[in-house]
Amino acid sequence: MSESIQHKIEQLREELHQHNYNYYILDEPSISDFEFDSLLKELQNLEKEYPQYDDPNSPTHRVGGGITKNFPTIQHQFRMYSLDNSYDFEDLADWEKRIEKTLEGESVEFVAELKYDGASISILYENGKLQQAATRGDGFQGDEITPNVKTISTVPLKLKGDFPERFFMRGEIYLDRKSFDKINQSREAEGLDPFMNPRNTASGSLKLQDSTEVRKRNLTAVLYQFISDKLPAETHWELLENAKKWGFKVSEDHAKLCKNLKEVQDFINYWEENRHQLDFDIDGIVIKVNSLQQQQRLGYTAKSPRWAMSYKFKAEKVETLLEKVSYQVGRTGAITPVANLSPVLLAGTIVKRASLHNEDIIKKLDLHEGDYVYVEKGGEIIPKIVGINLEKRDLFAQPIHYITHCPECGTELVKLEDQAAHFCPNDVHCPPQVVGRMIHYVSRKALNIENLGSETIEQLFREGLVKDISDFYHLSKEQLLPLERMAEKSAQNIINAVEKSKEVPYEKVLFGIGIKHVGETVAKKLAKNFSSIDELKNASVEELTSVEDIGEKIAQSIVEFLNNPENWEMIEKLKSYGVQLVRGENSQEVISEVLLGKTFLFTGKLSLFTREKAEEMVEKHGGKNISSVSKKLNYLVVGEKAGSKLKKAKDIGSITILDEQQFLDLIGNKS
Ligand code: AMP
Ligand code: ZN
Repeated sequence: MSESIQHKIEQLREELHQHNYNYYILDEPSISDFEFDSLLKELQNLEKEYPQYDDPNSPTHRVGGGITKNFPTIQHQFRMYSLDNSYDFEDLADWEKRIEKTLEGESVEFVAELKYDGASISILYENGKLQQAATRGDGFQGDEITPNVKTISTVPLKLKGDFPERFFMRGEIYLDRKSFDKINQSREAEGLDPFMNPRNTASGSLKLQDSTEVRKRNLTAVLYQFISDKLPAETHWELLENAKKWGFKVSEDHAKLCKNLKEVQDFINYWEENRHQLDFDIDGIVIKVNSLQQQQRLGYTAKSPRWAMSYKFKAEKVETLLEKVSYQVGRTGAITPVANLSPVLLAGTIVKRASLHNEDIIKKLDLHEGDYVYVEKGGEIIPKIVGINLEKRDLFAQPIHYITHCPECGTELVKLEDQAAHFCPNDVHCPPQVVGRMIHYVSRKALNIENLGSETIEQLFREGLVKDISDFYHLSKEQLLPLERMAEKSAQNIINAVEKSKEVPYEKVLFGIGIKHVGETVAKKLAKNFSSIDELKNASVEELTSVEDIGEKIAQSIVEFLNNPENWEMIEKLKSYGVQLVRGENSQEVISEVLLGKTFLFTGKLSLFTREKAEEMVEKHGGKNISSVSKKLNYLVVGEKAGSKLKKAKDIGSITILDEQQFLDLIGNKS
């Protein structure tokens, strides 16, 4: 019986490995996603029932699940070198001359490959199984990130065919543009800042602690180098072909075997022109000597192989007319100048606008009206102006004068010493700022009114249906229905969600009403120390600053906000609708009294929980947090790299020092 179970499990694994290969490497799926998922489910169930047959390379391990706190450092058995760079064909010709000299005039074949713009990786295979994966690090040692790499579908967990017993595959992990956009879309929906570019996102993803999250990022791995003590072939090209047969996605897919440098140049020219047709980013071409025996004779410099060369594409730059500078007012009141350009093709997309960031940048460029500007697209997504064609400047052209008043509401702009941007101080009436506060109010961490999106809010504001956040509470279905793309059902959902937000606790409402400098943490502290918004309104700056973590600036801002008659009127309205502006019982939820009368302080880098969470736990168990080490302190909980506080506590002697786990044990919490 058990033998047949084991056999069944192995058979399922084989089948799933093969389907994975068909789908991701050959791009020829032979079953539907649904069938694949059912097979996977079946395997998962069997493995759960018979854990004695588990295998770290089972396809079920791809879905992630493990948490890695610290990635161990490992030595690379074979050093991971950099590549020498070249920027034009002359550099390449020089390189060829150097090679010919060493090889005494032998003819040389080259392999030209794409230079994938991601993070390099080294993966060890033993007996056809993925053993270990590591980042490049400094080339001598890197971080072991095996669980994260296993989640990448294009990385085979088990090889097929006639593979060598032990070897490393080197390659690049990258994020295709579609997956990158998808990640950013969902980040924006969650109110998070978008990531800058696919490369950084790919390398950042490899270091995520939760491998389930890595899986969601949808990374790709392409392998371009085989390394071992024994070489099972004579040329690099053959090695790539073999690797493909064993189940790898290899660089050969977009590479060319070139008889001479002329063919290399054609390849470069082709991709420099057509790189935007790829669905991922490349930043150049890598050229390698094909013969492994020749590679060996050429050897290495201190930093890079002499048998390989990278050819870097120039950052793309075009010239176009600056039509005008316009100014956007952000949701926080910050002003961003934008260059409106005559449309021009750059890096595969039509560019019409470029950010100018702030007044200093405009001054530094010495931008004039009607200038012809150079626009460049580097690794970033938003193009930027890098210079001006002065030859084309009109003799009478005027320098760009920065605006002095808000284009949305006409208020005079202010600029703080320590900030680069100007902003509009009219936070109560400036339209984008009002809308910004409404969007903040409904966001997940505030009142969490899910069904009310930013577009709907903008429409409601434009139509005059809501003037401030309290107006959400008297919206009717009849008012909503005429809006664009508003169906009966979504209108009802909005009404329901608004109604439900009346149950959201006081501390979240405090965060949601958008007092400047009052973030989530400060709102919590305020709610704990002032039991209602009325009490908060009556508090003086001195009373406010006596609360831990609340400084002068925050206190001022609170007093100003709550004493502004219009704001207070809005708050009165919120109260009348039943929004929670008084502390409820459940916001001071008590779990136990084990820490009653005890004081706590956390120091160092915590890894099991955040400081905020820790302090919350202390309170929920009856303890108190204090902010400095003194005789009054009972417990100091130390994370990694604790410094002076730990030393001081030891000196005092009466303080109990705990690590994070010991703290959890103390409150009887294993999570
Ligand atoms: P650089 O970081 O600009 O010095 O370029 C060297 C890096 O290019 C290597 O560490 C690899 O991660 C990366 N690379 C991308 N594509 C290839 C390729 N086809 N062959 C070799 N290295 C590549
Ligand atoms: Zn304004």
